[in-house]
Amino acid sequence: MRSHLQPFLVQKQQSGKLDAAFFSTVMSEKRTNAILNGLAGATIREINNVAKHFKTTSKEIIEHAPVSSPEKNCDYCAKPFIPAKPKARFCSDACRNKSHRENA
Ligand SMILES: [Zn+2]
Repeated sequence: MRSHLQPFLVQKQQSGKLDAAFFSTVMSEKRTNAILNGLAGATIREINNVAKHFKTTSKEIIEHAPVSSPEKNCDYCAKPFIPAKPKARFCSDACRNKSHRENA
């Protein structure tokens, strides 16, 4: 199961920000590892707690979690892609531009 929290935690892990303070106040190491390894999804409460700890918002975490978005097919070239935003319709700026030009 993929989690909205996973890409956020991976980023914090890579920058060395998942320290003892995080594990003692926000989430257990076991729980964090399960999410990092894709074995568990995070609850809204956990996302809120992590957001609070890193002084961000849960909305921000969810919006910046492209791997949790379902794969889509590009409206122009039909290639599958993972949209960075839920409303994205094209795999790239190039496809978006070409589509707009042809439909103009
Ligand atoms: Zn495309």
